[in-house]
Amino acid sequence: MASLDSVQKWDTECDVLICGFGCAGAAAAIEAADTDPGARLLIVEKAPAEFVGGNARVSGQSLLISKNAEALKTYHRAMSANNPVAEELLEEWASRMVALEPWIEKMATDVGSEYLHGTGWSTRDVVLEFPEFGAAEAVQHTATILPVPSGVWLALKANVDKRGVPVWYEAPVVDLIQDPDTLEVFGAWIEHQGKRKAVRAARGVIMAVGGYEASPDMQRNYYGLGNVKPLGTPYNTGDGVRILQKAGASMWHMRNPGQSGGIWPGIHDPRQQTSYLRNFMLPSFSWVDVNSEGRRFYGETNELQLTHYKMKSNGRWVDVPLHVADPVHMIFDETTRQAGRLVMQVMTWSAVVNDPLNGREWSEDNAAEIEAGLVVKAGTIEELAAKVGLDPAVLVAEIQAYNAACEAGVDDEHGRRSDTLQPIVTGPYYAVRLTPAIVCTGGGAKRDMDGRVYDHDDRAIPRLFEAGELGSFISDLYQNGSYLTEAMITGRGAARSAVAEIPRSGSE
Ligand SMILES: Cc1cc2nc3c(=O)[nH]c(=O)nc-3n(C[C@H](O)[C@H](O)[C@H](O)COP(=O)(O)OP(=O)(O)OC[C@H]3O[C@@H](n4cnc5c(N)ncnc54)[C@H](O)[C@@H]3O)c2cc1C
Repeated sequence: MASLDSVQKWDTECDVLICGFGCAGAAAAIEAADTDPGARLLIVEKAPAEFVGGNARVSGQSLLISKNAEALKTYHRAMSANNPVAEELLEEWASRMVALEPWIEKMATDVGSEYLHGTGWSTRDVVLEFPEFGAAEAVQHTATILPVPSGVWLALKANVDKRGVPVWYEAPVVDLIQDPDTLEVFGAWIEHQGKRKAVRAARGVIMAVGGYEASPDMQRNYYGLGNVKPLGTPYNTGDGVRILQKAGASMWHMRNPGQSGGIWPGIHDPRQQTSYLRNFMLPSFSWVDVNSEGRRFYGETNELQLTHYKMKSNGRWVDVPLHVADPVHMIFDETTRQAGRLVMQVMTWSAVVNDPLNGREWSEDNAAEIEAGLVVKAGTIEELAAKVGLDPAVLVAEIQAYNAACEAGVDDEHGRRSDTLQPIVTGPYYAVRLTPAIVCTGGGAKRDMDGRVYDHDDRAIPRLFEAGELGSFISDLYQNGSYLTEAMITGRGAARSAVAEIPRSGSE
């Protein structure tokens, strides 16, 4: 934390300072403006204007809709059994969640966008991740806002623009300005236009700067993930975790399994900071994934996207061991090569954002990536193995065993879905290295649904609020569509709390 002594003069003043312009920051700005149209608001965002929107912009835009608060509580209690969250928190989450849909619908219609049930890009109208915990009772449906991609984010941003909330871009928050004894927050230091600026926040500061997906150091230290890449924004580098630790906040959920959103099969172009996501809607199945020894290690096509890449092992839902088996290669044949893009197009930073550093477009037939050497090609499986550093005899035996399982119509060893047992028989053959890829992280400061941040003695830190995936209440397993809706709920809750603060008078 920085103390008031660090401030010679305030560079600017507002009532509520909102740090981060993703889903939570946008929801906070909208709610603050609607609750008190006279409140002076300021959003500070680390990314340049063209790269604004955080993970929200490149997410699947899938929103959890529930109409049954009791069932939702039961479901979340069961999903959090390994790291329970307080009953009051579940109560608040469930009651606000069942009341959220009209607000989302209004956000869409107020700016001329279409709100619909379903995901907008698949035929599924609901994803029930953990049925044995009560998903069917808790989840009414999945919803989204068009267009695909980015519809939910675009509608939220249009609502913020409509309210005329000022935004500083390329303006990361770097520290909070606090009373070192009471921890009360007076404002924050922001880097903007080559200067460090002291921004006074007369009512409060809302931290909505996302997680630490793009911090390799935090990924190693908080989850032991040595080689993961983000699927979302490269700007979420854990600034909020560092700043809130310095601010005296109690941290939680730093070690969620797979950081809760799961560890997915990514494809990383070394020229980029973020990762592509292997296409889970690829219509061809003449492919397998093999581990560092050249052996298959799971049922690759078992729709693991429906459980955020968790699988059952020893009776528990755990991460698919893509990170443990690393380096993993996807081995495929010419039929799959021709079947379509290997990577997803409807989400991820690489696919959605026109970012010259991170958004090189993947070719329709994967030919450009073969040309670039990202996908390795060979006439035989032996040759392919040698090219990617695997034992040719092991890989040949593994592909033969897989093809035999296809012939038999059953994959005894790994339980791969039988309708996806398509043999790898049409040369040439290909290999692409898979990178464990992270959707999001949930760790951050302990808080309530009104965004109040707690210190190590469980006291709310005056005038400090937090929202979104930074400090998410999700502590273990994750239900599709909960992160965006939690960001909306906590962004709005934090905004109402901050606006309700009595503005500090004087110059401190
Ligand atoms: C590929 C992918 C698919 C997903 N699909 C879904 C889905 O379908 N449904 C769902 O519910 N969730 C989904 N998620 C998760 C969801 O997108 C995030 O949890 C959600 O966007 C969190 O909102 P947020 O506002 O907290 O963070 P973000 O939306 O990431 O926004 C954080 C913002 O803070 C900015 N920032 C970072 N550091 C600073 C700083 N120091 N100062 C100022 N600004 C800063 C960032 O640039 C960013 O704009 C997905 C995520 C990914 C990556």
